Amino acid sequence: SGRLSGKYALITAAGAGIGRATAIRFAKEGARVLATDINADALASLKAEDPAITTCPLDVTHAEQIHALVRERGPFDVLFNCAGYVHAGTVLDTDDVSWRRSFSINVDSMFHLCKAVLPPMLERGRGSIINMSSVASSIKGVPNRFAYTATKAAVIGLTRSIAADFVTRGIRCNAICPGTVKTPSLGERVRALGGDEEAHWRSFVERQPMGRLGDPEEIAALAVYLASDESSFTTGTVHVVDGGWSN
Ligand code: NAD
Repeated sequence: SGRLSGKYALITAAGAGIGRATAIRFAKEGARVLATDINADALASLKAEDPAITTCPLDVTHAEQIHALVRERGPFDVLFNCAGYVHAGTVLDTDDVSWRRSFSINVDSMFHLCKAVLPPMLERGRGSIINMSSVASSIKGVPNRFAYTATKAAVIGLTRSIAADFVTRGIRCNAICPGTVKTPSLGERVRALGGDEEAHWRSFVERQPMGRLGDPEEIAALAVYLASDESSFTTGTVHVVDGGWSN
C-alpha cells in the first residue's frame, strides 16, 4: 500500500504538465484519482497512460460545473487546485480582459472548488487542499508577469485564510510555489515569443540558479507529501520548490 492509500483525490488541469505528473504519482501511491481538465484529448491520453485513473472533463471557470462534479463524484479527501493561466506583460500591457481572465482561471476557480469540497470534508473531519501558486507571487516580483503574479499572491492569501478558518476541524490547506518547470505550456509560451526559440529557452534556464528547469515530477513529489498524512502538522504554509530561484 502506498503513501496515499485510502485517499480520494480531485485534481484540476490534470491533462498536462504538473497536474498530469501529480495524477500519475498519486495513483502510484495508492490514491483513487479523479483527474479533470478542460481538454478531453489530454484526459484520454492520461487514461491511456494510466488506466487506474478516472477522468472527467471540467472547466474550472464554470462554477456550476464544479458544484455538480463535486456533488456527483465526491466526497474527496484531497483537492489539488492546479489549473492556472500565465498572462505575459507589465501593468501597461494588461487590459481588462486579460486581468479578468487571469483571476477567473487562477483565483475564482479555487474559490469555487474550495467552497464545493469543504462541506463534505468538514462533515467527515478531514481533508487536504493543495493550491498551486508560484514563486511569482508575494514571494518574488518577476518581470512581465503582472496579472499572473497578482493572482498567485491571491492564491497564497486564500490558502492561508482557509487554513486559519478550519485548522481545528481536520482541514489542512497549503500552497505550492514552483520556479520554472518544463511543461508543454512553457513550450507553447516559448513558441509564442517567436524569433530565436533556443535563446528563449536559454533565458528561462539562466534565471534558474541550478542551471536547469524543474521537472513536473519534482513538484508532484511535494504534492504527494502535502496530500498524505505525513504532513499532518502542516497547514497554512507556502512551499517553495524552485531550484533556488527565490533564494
Ligand atoms: P499547463 O499550464 O500546461 O496546463 C495544464 C492543463 O491545464 C492543460 O491540460 C490545460 O488543458 C488545462 N487547462 C487550461 N485551462 C483550463 C480550464 N479553464 N479548466 C481546466 N483545465 C484547464 O500546466 P503547468 O505548466 O504544469 O501549470 C500548472 C500550474 O502550475 C498552473 O497553475 C501554473 O500557473 C503553475 N505553475 C507552473 C509553472 C511552470 O513553470 N510550468 C511555474 C509555477 C507555477
